[in-house]
Amino acid sequence: MQKSPATLALEQRRDILVPHIMHVSPSVWVSVAEDVSNVSMIVGPEGLVLVDTGMIPDCAERTLAHFREITDLPIKAIIYTHGHGDHTGGSPVFCAEGSEPAIWARDNFNAETEPFIRAGIMPLFKQRGGLQAGFTLPKEKRICNGIAPVRYPKAGGAVFSGKTGAVLPTHSFCGESMTLSVAGLELQLFAAPGETEDALVVWFPEERVLFGGDDLYRSFPNIYPVRGTGNRDILQWCESLKLMRSLEADVLVPGHTDPFLGKEHVHEVITNYHDALEFLFRKTTELMNEGNNADELAREVTLPPHLAELDYLKEFYGNVSWTVRNIFNSLVGWYDGNPLHLCEYFGPKEEAERMAALVGGLDALLARGREALTAGDAPWAARLADHVLALAPDMSEAKLLKADALDIIGETILTATGRNYALSVAQKLRKSTEQA
Ligand SMILES: [Zn+2]
Repeated sequence: MQKSPATLALEQRRDILVPHIMHVSPSVWVSVAEDVSNVSMIVGPEGLVLVDTGMIPDCAERTLAHFREITDLPIKAIIYTHGHGDHTGGSPVFCAEGSEPAIWARDNFNAETEPFIRAGIMPLFKQRGGLQAGFTLPKEKRICNGIAPVRYPKAGGAVFSGKTGAVLPTHSFCGESMTLSVAGLELQLFAAPGETEDALVVWFPEERVLFGGDDLYRSFPNIYPVRGTGNRDILQWCESLKLMRSLEADVLVPGHTDPFLGKEHVHEVITNYHDALEFLFRKTTELMNEGNNADELAREVTLPPHLAELDYLKEFYGNVSWTVRNIFNSLVGWYDGNPLHLCEYFGPKEEAERMAALVGGLDALLARGREALTAGDAPWAARLADHVLALAPDMSEAKLLKADALDIIGETILTATGRNYALSVAQKLRKSTEQA
């Protein structure tokens, strides 16, 4: 089968996302793509400060070994840019050296996961997170996650978010900013909510290096992850980007992918990133006022070409249409304005019954689905398979039709998490027919 443009683009990404160390300023080294997140080392007169730790102990050990070729000073502090497990899970390896580093984070550390825990839906969160990450897919199908190489964590690690596997912060700061004096270095921490509410950025003024965590990396940002999350506030994110730009950094180290180098380039990148988010918010709300619902907006609103063509705004990890839906939902909630949807007249089963009646029965519905697939219309084939499965949830032929359609759909999605999700669900459906 010929590879889709999305597959080819992700393969190109994978070829860039190879482990390497970047020496970005006299005292700063960054381990890129060894682990899922970047791990940065600032070398001070009296010791080291690490920004983030990666996710997987094996990877953290390799990063530490590289850093130890550069210096043997003790690790005095670790700063978590936010609570996601891909930034915190490697911490036990760095702490195992025994220098008892102070671990800094915001006082609302891990705020994103708390609502899931309170609601008791961590099983769902982990299940959807696993589908998004494609953990059960074979390596050739995962390609890369858009901003990081493929890694398979062992069970029990701090996989998504959370307090398992990671060493918890020993120090936290509240408010807007603070100055941290450690290892003979002066660093500033700024609250910078973006991908997460607990996000911070680290500013090393002496060498003009800014560590931006996941508020900016080489992909359109992940304003809505398909695993699900509470609202990621896009206007607040814009404010954080303005703060980052105001520092006039010479180097911007993102939480994933290669650092951006050069004052003018950093300024331009942050401006474009900010402008992309602001444009989507403005355009979406403008069209909402004209009566469009989320389904319509998700198809209509796109980035202007001069932003869409930028490599660091391509939808490798975050996705524009999911963002547009998120803006709609965050402002007015689920109701699309169609009064028919105020009452539950047609559940999936009732609608499927009527669809089947329209085309002459369940077998005809399945046949139409297969025809659609043969004709190259995988989304419609999947839609018809859904109707069949609503009426006959265990029918292997319908599961296989849906799986075949999802395999094709998945291959066309550039955003790695969406692609992984489609391919993982296809794999699950196929497996369920083997067990039957
Ligand atoms: Zn991350």
